Amino acid sequence: MKDTNCIFCKIANGEIPSSTVYEDDDFRVILDLGPAAKGHALILPKEHYKDVCELDETVAAKILPLGAKIGAGMKKSLGCAGFNLVQNNGAAAGQTVLHFHMHVIPRYEGGPEMVTWTPGKDEEMADTAAKIKSAL
Ligand code: 5GP
Ligand code: ZN
Repeated sequence: MKDTNCIFCKIANGEIPSSTVYEDDDFRVILDLGPAAKGHALILPKEHYKDVCELDETVAAKILPLGAKIGAGMKKSLGCAGFNLVQNNGAAAGQTVLHFHMHVIPRYEGGPEMVTWTPGKDEEMADTAAKIKSAL
């Protein structure tokens, strides 16, 4: 299903032009308009899913292999030393476009720190684990 009000539906299905690096029946991979690093790409499913919780399982199974393919292509073509696969779900997690997308972010030697956090402590770890477990 497509969402007529969704910009990523329009881009993924070619109604709005984009810098496309890859396309198949299920996905379009485009360059991010506000790249965190040169070559930053977004994997967009052609169907509309708000986030990972809505994603069709068949489509979901194709995303990591595609991320690996794009990342490997970036290492060959752009000379990055590695790459991050990043995927945000919900505004609290930094999702700004509510159409599932996976970021593929090339990482260059000596480049800026990204996707990092300060390790903390959870004094109630057993309780926290039990809470999550009970909801699955
Ligand atoms: P999010 O924060 O939702 O995980 O990521 C959304 C990403 O989409 C951002 O990195 C933003 O720069 C990118 N973006 C937003 N609108 C457009 C657009 O119209 N075209 C392209 N190519 N990227 C977009
Ligand atoms: Zn959409």
